[in-house]
Formats: sequence, structure tokens, C-alpha cells
Amino acid sequence: MKVKIYPDLIVIGGGLAGTEAAWQAASRGIRVHLYEMRPKVMTGAHRTSNLAELVCSNSLGSNLPDRASGILKQELRSLNSLLLKCADESVVPAGGALAVDREAFSQKVTAQIESHPLIEVIRQEITEIPNQPSIIASGPLTSPKLSKAIQDFTGSEQIFFYDALAPIVYQDTINMEIVFQGSRYRNNNGESGGDYLNCPMEKDEYYYFVDELLEAERISLIGVEKEISTGVRAGMDKYFEGCLPIEVIAMRGKESLAYGPLRPVGLTDPRTGEHSYAVAQLRQDNLAKTLYNLVGFQTNLKYSEQQRVFRMIPGLESVEFARFGQMHRNTFIFSPALLHSTLQVKQRPDLFFAGQITGVEGYVGNIATGLLAGWNASQLLSGKPLIEMPRGTLIGALCQYITHADPRDFQPMKANLGILPGLDIEINGRRIRAAAYSERSKAELQAFLTGREDI
Ligand SMILES: Cc1cc2nc3c(=O)[nH]c(=O)nc-3n(C[C@H](O)[C@H](O)[C@H](O)COP(=O)(O)OP(=O)(O)OC[C@H]3O[C@@H](n4cnc5c(N)ncnc54)[C@H](O)[C@@H]3O)c2cc1C
Repeated sequence: MKVKIYPDLIVIGGGLAGTEAAWQAASRGIRVHLYEMRPKVMTGAHRTSNLAELVCSNSLGSNLPDRASGILKQELRSLNSLLLKCADESVVPAGGALAVDREAFSQKVTAQIESHPLIEVIRQEITEIPNQPSIIASGPLTSPKLSKAIQDFTGSEQIFFYDALAPIVYQDTINMEIVFQGSRYRNNNGESGGDYLNCPMEKDEYYYFVDELLEAERISLIGVEKEISTGVRAGMDKYFEGCLPIEVIAMRGKESLAYGPLRPVGLTDPRTGEHSYAVAQLRQDNLAKTLYNLVGFQTNLKYSEQQRVFRMIPGLESVEFARFGQMHRNTFIFSPALLHSTLQVKQRPDLFFAGQITGVEGYVGNIATGLLAGWNASQLLSGKPLIEMPRGTLIGALCQYITHADPRDFQPMKANLGILPGLDIEINGRRIRAAAYSERSKAELQAFLTGREDI
């Protein structure tokens, strides 16, 4: 019998996405060369030479079936994810979350990858984009030489080196009795409507908020703190001055926010016809209008402090966060312009990106993109059509989000329910709604997998 030989695949980066990608491709008969630069060249966060090292927390997030992260895990298990299997085998008690013994987890992944007959692990830094079928999964701390090569390939406007994320909150937790809708200068005649949700602040509320903001604890960012305190380039059209953390602006003077991101000019409450001393604005963040981001609130406060201080803003007293604000070193490409939702590069069909470098945040989301990129690279190399995951699954929704986000405002996104398409029926109650999303994901994935022999 003739054995079919496919072209070899190069995977760059033996982190979460790269190992999952290599495993998925090799499991479908593709010979993989997996390049990992550690331990010869280390990043600022990795400490070991293990593949799939968890750089920070040992928690992979919720395991509950009615949480976004739990739904995504459920999908990955159905899709035979190697890393989810290793995580489930390395579990440590953590209530509803999937936490692992980090050493046991990465050792298991390393052993599985190194013993796969079709995977060769090569400990070497890659400094150029290879001229053969490849997946780039070099992560948020991609080495400077490879970053430069990617930048040359994409153009300098299509690659970013920092995250400057403003928090995103769930719309249904905003107090609409206090907040009013309106756009700057558009509702001065008392008309309602407009693109923003506005949180009006009286003078004493504003001063109290500024005092608490200045006192709040920050995440320490040795090395990049200095750059961040002067602003960073962190998105389309945002250059140094434009991207200061809100607490750094507040340090410049008590009124600086009231003349900056919280300026009230042109905003009139249509219900009272009055102006406020300051206004915090929220902008719609997804088509379903379930998520809103706090405009100009990129921040380096600790997550618990963001929750405490930002809930002092009138109308946000009970707000729930879909994503907290962040500022850190993070190399990511402009996926809306560069990638298809299959994670294939538009201008070079034999090249794929996976992991945090695509603009996905979080361990499990990165494993998910690795899985899809590895599967799709194997589809391509074996002459089969590429796969788009169903939109009602979180893996499908994440890939759809990063490749179709508003180009003016593209920022990394973690798995959350707000990126899923709305349900056909209206369901009140967040947990019941989440359970419905979970059921839909299962049904769509099952329908998608029925009859497939490659899973
Ligand atoms: C400091 C930090 C803390 C984080 N903490 C968390 C957290 O607690 N929870 C969470 O969910 N997410 C966290 N993240 C975000 C993200 O989930 C992780 O970074 C995750 O590991 C990303 O997966 P990845 O596969 O894209 O990259 P990685 O897991 O980083 O894998 C990329 C690999 O590529 C290698 N590499 C880089 N350049 C080259 C090259 N030129 N040639 C060969 N190999 C190369 C690296 O050594 C690395 O092993 C954190 C990110 C950072 C930067």
C-alpha cells in the first residue's frame, strides 16, 4: 500500500498554543518540526525549559459549564485537546476552577510532545518567517528578532507591542436609572439617543473618585513601568501620548481627568437638561450590545482595585466586569486585517498564527487557537478544506471576534459570553442565559462533529 507523504509543518513556539497545534497536526499524520528557543534564549516571564509552561497563575479559569471559560474547556475536551487532557490529569483543588500543578502539567505536555513519533522538538530561536508551511505561535513575549521579521512581513502598522486595555463590563449590570445615553454635542437639545452610555458625576463624587484612584494599588511592572508612565503605542492610531493609564493622567493634577477622558463638555443629560462636573463614558463593544468598554480607562490597577474604584462611578455601583483593564508587554498582530477566521494568513495561505499573538487573551483561549491552527494546517497540507468553527461555540466566536473586530479599536479579547451571537429567545437571568449558551455550544459542536472521521 502506498503511504501518502504530506509536506512538513514548522511550528514556532513550544508554549500553550504551539504544543497544542503541533499535537493536532501530528495526530492527523503531519510531520512537525516544533521550534522552541528556551532554554537557550529565555523570555522575561518563563522560568523553565518545559514546553507549555504556565507563566503566571496556575489556574486555567472556571470549570463550571455555565461560565465562558468552562464552556470553552468543554469544547476543547470534545475536540481532543492534548493540553486540556494534561490539565485534567494534573488538577489541584480550586473549587469551581481548573487549577493545575504547573510543573506536573508542563512536564506531561513535554513528555507527550517529545515522544510523538511525528514531532521533532528543536531548541532554537527562529529569527525569520520560514518559507514553508508554518504556524507562528511565539506568544506575547515573541523574541525581538522574530518580532522584527513579523513586522517586516505585516508592515509596522499591523503589529503591536503592548496591551493597553480598558475594562469591559456587562451592559445588564449598568444602572440605567443613573446612566444616560448620548453622544458628545449631539443631544444638547434634550433629545435622547446616541452612541455612548454616560455616567454623570457631581463635583464631590468626582474628587472622591480621583482620590481613591490615586490611592489604589497597582500591578508592578518592572522594566516597562517607565515606558508606560509616558504612554505607549498600543493600538491603531494610538501613539505615546494617547495611551496613558487613567491613574497616570490623574497624577498630573486633580482636574486632569475632568479635562481629559472624563470631560463633560457637550454632554447634557436629556432627562434633566443639566451638565455634570465630569462624565465617564461607555462605548458599545459588541454587536449584541451586551458589552461596553470604559472609554479611556486603560489602567494598571490590580483587578480587585479596578472593581472597587470603578464601582464608585455613579451608575456602575453593581457593575460586573467581562474583562479588566491591563497594560503590559504583549506582542500581537492586527488580526482583523491579516487573518481569516481559520487563522490562516490572508496573503500567505501556508502560514497560520496561533495563541496570544493573534490577539486572544488567556491560557485556554490560546490553547483553543492552537488547536484550530494545527487542525487547519493539517487540512491544508492534506488537501482538505479549512475548518471554520461554528459561531455558537466559544472557539468559533473567539476566532470570529479577533478576525472581524472593529479595526479602529482592536484589542486583545479573552473568552467571554458577550462575544457569542445572541440567543433566539430572550432569557432573563445571567446564569440561566449562560446555561442556554452552554447548551447551544454543545449542540452546535455535536452537529459539526457528526460524521467527521478526523476527530
Ligand atoms: C507575564 C504574563 C503573565 C500572564 N499571566 C496569565 C495568567 O495568569 N492567566 C492567563 O490566562 N493568561 C496569562 N497570560 C496571557 C497568556 O495566556 C499566556 O501568555 C500564554 O502562555 C500565551 O500562550 P502562547 O502559546 O500564545 O504563548 P507562550 O505560552 O508564551 O508560548 C510561546 C513560546 O514561544 C517561544 N518563542 C518566542 N519567540 C520564539 C522564537 N523566535 N523562536 C522560537 N521560540 C520562540 C517562547 O519561549 C514560548 O515558549 C500572561 C501573559 C504574560 C506575558
